[in-house]
Amino acid sequence: MTTRIDGKAFAAQVRARVAGEVVALQERHGITPGLAVVLVGEDPASQVYVRNKEKQTVEAGMQSFEHKLSVDTTQDQLLALMDDLNNDGAVNGILVQLPLPSQIDSDAVINALQREKDVDGFHIGNVGRLWTGGEGMVPCTPLGCLMLLQDHLGDLTGKRALVLGRSNIVGKPMAALLLAQHCTVTIAHSRTADLAVRCSEADILVAAVGRPEMVKGDWIKPGATVIDVGINRVESGDGKTRLVGDVNFEAAQGVAGAITPVPGGVGPMTIACLLHNTVEAACRQNGVDRASLS
Ligand code: NDP
Repeated sequence: MTTRIDGKAFAAQVRARVAGEVVALQERHGITPGLAVVLVGEDPASQVYVRNKEKQTVEAGMQSFEHKLSVDTTQDQLLALMDDLNNDGAVNGILVQLPLPSQIDSDAVINALQREKDVDGFHIGNVGRLWTGGEGMVPCTPLGCLMLLQDHLGDLTGKRALVLGRSNIVGKPMAALLLAQHCTVTIAHSRTADLAVRCSEADILVAAVGRPEMVKGDWIKPGATVIDVGINRVESGDGKTRLVGDVNFEAAQGVAGAITPVPGGVGPMTIACLLHNTVEAACRQNGVDRASLS
């Protein structure tokens, strides 16, 4: 029997907790957390993500500041906006929607953010803190995966974890988080030898490759907990399309102990964690003990 980990329901709980903390911040400290979202260009997927982020920010009781810039925005113009947002006291978190147009160096923009306002956790100072055990901002998708794992498994100490994918936004920070939770971590990628065997040794398997249903049933250790980060749109045969993960969900049934579905697994956790990080940023910037809010 394989448990379906309901990320949609868990994300709703996270958002409700954040909304409660926002009320407490307002009532006890006179602070309304603010999140600035910057979108350059008109990439349709990015527009959808940004709309959802803005909507959920407002629903959580926070201020949402939207900056939509044309596709021919220069790097200097974007850096000037970053400077303004860094200096704006109403803005606690800044999110720059990636990818940026090719004339802009994404790293230069992200590293121009005030580290404390980098709610995506991509600033080099936050990456360093994540790997060295310091207090920083943690990237939203891996943080959401960790919350789901801890909710399902409790203490992760001693578990063998395999992270499939080594991107800077998912794979590497996921591995750092699992290491910090005392897992024994393997990071696998496109050059990994004996990939199926490596996967089948893992108590925790996090798949973040962007390859539809690549992970087969016999790649999964019986009883393992599987977190499927992949979001892939495939033809469904009737002229329509549907979303699938990086794991063959049907094949995992009866083998995995638990698995996140796609959609409805990791996806909803990403924005919930963005809101969580924005409250964290507001608390740190104002010297508020977050634990005292709940
Ligand atoms: P990237 O393309 O940046 O990285 C993919 C990783 O997978 C790379 O490290 C690559 O290895 C590895 N890889 C690719 N093909 C194979 C293969 N055949 N065998 C083994 N490893 C392989 O992707 P992201 O990390 O940005 O995203 C991964 C997936 O997660 C995507 O489907 C994306 O849509 C989804 N996603 C979902 C989010 C959510 O909110 N749920 C948020 C972010 C991403 P190498 O480094 O060797 O090239």
